[in-house]
Amino acid sequence: MLIDDELYVASRKYLIDYGMRQLNGLGADQICKVCIQNGGSCCRACSYLVDGVGCLNRNTSCTSWLCGYLKLLFYKAGLIQEWNTFWKEVPGIDFRKDYTPPLVKMTKHLEVKHRRELGEALANDINMKISKEKDNIDFIVLASELDELIDEIGFAGTSDIASQLIKRLNYLIKDFHAFKHILKSIDNGS
Ligand code: SF4
Ligand code: SF4
Repeated sequence: MLIDDELYVASRKYLIDYGMRQLNGLGADQICKVCIQNGGSCCRACSYLVDGVGCLNRNTSCTSWLCGYLKLLFYKAGLIQEWNTFWKEVPGIDFRKDYTPPLVKMTKHLEVKHRRELGEALANDINMKISKEKDNIDFIVLASELDELIDEIGFAGTSDIASQLIKRLNYLIKDFHAFKHILKSIDNGS
């Protein structure tokens, strides 16, 4: 949630740690785990990735970037706009590296959410989907479709086309039963 627009100074490290807390708070790490096990990792072929160690250069760029599945997670959690608005304030975001200065002036705040069950449920659904398929192609294609569609929904705002796009999104995730169940239970306040 955006709390206020007062200026504050955050270190680059704080921003990265903060981003990781938010991602882990929604259980995004569980989705990445399934993705990596099935050859979909966005870190593939990155020179900063070391086998058995992980990333040697965690930066603001890779922390803020959401693939299609993580976009779905943030969108359905109602946090995608706040997430994007927050990272738009961070300078120096680049591909697989950043030029973010050690200290950054910020106005946006986000409240870290603790809803790991959302990411865990989505990870289970994705795992189930992959286990029914003969390869990981559909899983990779779906990530790309979700990526584009959720951006389009954001651009469509409240126009008529938005409801068509949302229908299409709900169709694409029709088999994600565990994820939808958790979303429903959150909506019902349970
Ligand atoms: S592509 Fe998405 S789910 Fe896969 S490792 Fe990257 S961020 Fe995680
Ligand atoms: S720099 Fe980014 S893409 Fe490369 S290993 Fe680290 S997190 Fe992955």
